[in-house]
Amino acid sequence: MGFRTPGIGDRLRAAIGEGLRAQEPLRHHTTFRVGGPADWFVAARSQDQLVAALRAAHDLELPSFLLGGGSNLLVSDEGFRGLVVKNAIEDVAFDGATVQVGCGADYLGFIERCCDQALAGLAYAAGIPGSVGGAIYGNAGCYGQDIGSRTVECTVCTPDGLRVETLAASWFEFGYRDSRLKREPRALLSCVLRLERGDPALITAEIEEKLEIRRVKHPQWRIEPTAGSYFKNLPSGFEAPGLPFSPGTRRVPAGVLLDACECRGLRVGDAMVFAKHANILVNAGRATAHDVLALAEIMKARVRAKFGVELEEEVMFLGERPSVSTATARSA
Ligand SMILES: Cc1cc2nc3c(=O)[nH]c(=O)nc-3n(C[C@H](O)[C@H](O)[C@H](O)COP(=O)(O)OP(=O)(O)OC[C@H]3O[C@@H](n4cnc5c(N)ncnc54)[C@H](O)[C@@H]3O)c2cc1C
Repeated sequence: MGFRTPGIGDRLRAAIGEGLRAQEPLRHHTTFRVGGPADWFVAARSQDQLVAALRAAHDLELPSFLLGGGSNLLVSDEGFRGLVVKNAIEDVAFDGATVQVGCGADYLGFIERCCDQALAGLAYAAGIPGSVGGAIYGNAGCYGQDIGSRTVECTVCTPDGLRVETLAASWFEFGYRDSRLKREPRALLSCVLRLERGDPALITAEIEEKLEIRRVKHPQWRIEPTAGSYFKNLPSGFEAPGLPFSPGTRRVPAGVLLDACECRGLRVGDAMVFAKHANILVNAGRATAHDVLALAEIMKARVRAKFGVELEEEVMFLGERPSVSTATARSA
């Protein structure tokens, strides 16, 4: 009997250790519940495992993608040809009002742990799904606040897994739903945030209030799969008569323009505009990425025709992007 040459799976497994999966359906890892399989997938539970996974992919010349909670992601129906590394590093260490947190920690769970320690400053964000790392990547926020303003420093790794370093918040150039990571990718491993002392009863009340507002206005993503707001609010400077600004920002909400174009309830296949919010797309059953992209094109075209402005996607696309013809949407 001859020896078998180790394949990619063997070599990845040797570098990463336990937990490597082949042909993992990515729809199981996104809140949109859309997307084909990743050739390879691992949920990395420690910094060493995550760095080893990125490095192994680099050595094997395999594309890699770092996944958080999958709440801002539309995955191609063909999936991803490479290794998806889910950040599952969740350690939390408190030191007075400063906290170090693993970037795979669930954001809401982390906010609740801060509340248990009588630490205020993040309750406004209760209900933003996903991980702490995903929040930092896109400088997630609402009500005019964002996570970047609480960030002190982050420990990151280069995408090839070759260098780990700690970068001060100023490096990240946080802006509206933006950080330098979108232009110079790094894997966020852990970060240090500065919060402030508060009254746990008041923090709990704010968390409950924010969750209730979302329960009323937003789809419950565990029941009605979605990736949240699909388009970015308009750049500051865009004004049209009678259009309001988003609370705390000088930006016109994309939803207002989409409402003016009567987008609520539009549907392509099982991709649908949420009945209560024109800037949220939901998966009403077995939506494909193609359905979602076709619906988004129709919405963009309507806004372009009426307001002469191009909406920009907030949700990111993973995998090979298909060309989409503007199929006819129907009203639900
Ligand atoms: C119902 C609903 C409501 C939402 N409300 C809001 C809101 O109010 N405000 C808001 O800003 N967003 C909102 N979102 C969008 C989304 O929740 C945020 O953008 C969230 O911060 C994304 O985090 P994630 O871990 O899910 O990232 P993912 O979707 O997993 O990834 C998004 C991007 O971040 C990168 N990334 C993830 N983790 C890391 C890491 N550790 N290091 C480097 N890069 C990383 C990924 O590579 C990818 O490019 C909402 C989404 C839903 C479904």
